[in-house]
Amino acid sequence: MRASESTNLYFSQAADQMQMPDWMRKLLTTPKREVTVQVAFERDDGRIETVLGYRVQHDNARGPMKGGLRYHPAVDLDEVRALASLMTWKTAVVDLPYGGAKGGIGIDPKTLSKREMERMTRSFVDQIHEIVGPDSDIPAPDMGTNHEVMAWFRNQWEKYHGFNPAVITGKPVEEYGARGREEATGRGVGTLAVKLLKRINVKPEQCRTAIQGFGNVGSHAAKYLYEAAFPVVAVSDVSGAYVNPKGLNIPEVFSYVIKNKGSLEGYKNAERIPADELLYLDVDLLIPAALGDVITATNAGKIRAKTIIEAANGPIDPEADKILSDKRIMILPDILANAGGVTVSYFEWAQNRQHYKWSLDRVRQELDRTLSDAFENVWQESSTRNVSLRTAAFILAISRVQRASELAGWLV
Ligand code: GLU
Repeated sequence: MRASESTNLYFSQAADQMQMPDWMRKLLTTPKREVTVQVAFERDDGRIETVLGYRVQHDNARGPMKGGLRYHPAVDLDEVRALASLMTWKTAVVDLPYGGAKGGIGIDPKTLSKREMERMTRSFVDQIHEIVGPDSDIPAPDMGTNHEVMAWFRNQWEKYHGFNPAVITGKPVEEYGARGREEATGRGVGTLAVKLLKRINVKPEQCRTAIQGFGNVGSHAAKYLYEAAFPVVAVSDVSGAYVNPKGLNIPEVFSYVIKNKGSLEGYKNAERIPADELLYLDVDLLIPAALGDVITATNAGKIRAKTIIEAANGPIDPEADKILSDKRIMILPDILANAGGVTVSYFEWAQNRQHYKWSLDRVRQELDRTLSDAFENVWQESSTRNVSLRTAAFILAISRVQRASELAGWLV
């Protein structure tokens, strides 16, 4: 199933509950604008490389559009379209004053030197600078991009439009970035895991957890959960899954990965199994924190976890979602589970516009409050309507976008 079909199917399940007319479904799922551009840049050896860049702006009824930039070989227009619409529902479910967008380049960033990455980013900005801006569309990091890419993006955009750090979020802390932005998505996953467990009466100490992916999201989620006394029994990256039934020493894993250029390869105090096998471990909580579409109809039957928190965007496709729900596995959906990142992006944007910097404590407190409110609203909606947490989150999000569109006038 194509990524955009999956997202729209989840939308439809909520729209059915809401008895939404067809014209409104079509209007709310059709992106406002899709842009594909040529990104040409010079390699270090002087060759010219040409790749495709995308920006999809899905909806702006609730405010300027917001969403990350992904550099990954699987990036194409359809994937970006799906991720852009997820951003609309994500910003709405946590009630940030934004719409949704997403962008990216179909390339493997590991094949680029740092200077090549910079030249490619600047070339991309040359192509799209007119359609992004602090009041229209604000990019941010996603898979394969980081604070350095954000700094180059901002610098190149300012060459055309003048000083305005609020054009992009996830910047280096010294360069108008927000304290706590880097940890925010993983921290948010952790915060929500604690809330969910309270609701289902499971103690953290009893919640054996496996986390797929040890990048920015997975590693910070692991750290938070470890500190909250969850036994994190398995983590993984492309090199394999590392399992310790008694619980991994996450601070040790963390420092190992930092020393080992970001990879778990060679980590000793655990048993190594093939990376995919992590998904099928007998655990209480499974957190897919890497790529999309990792649980599909083909492997959903093998999942043994009791609860899943979608830290990645779109890790479970709708067919798998049905199989897992029939097995009574509870799923906290991506549009809520990983919303911590965009929430602190909003704080960064707000700080930039006020020329004022918050303390880390304040960022963490406000993040906690925002996610707690969103979680309670989604939980209530799910209980009242007797629907899954995913459908409840979509219903809340869609109602907010629908209301904003009604108030402003549907055709603006
Ligand atoms: N890329 C992140 C996401 O998928 C963050 C987006 C943002 O901060 O705008 O939510």
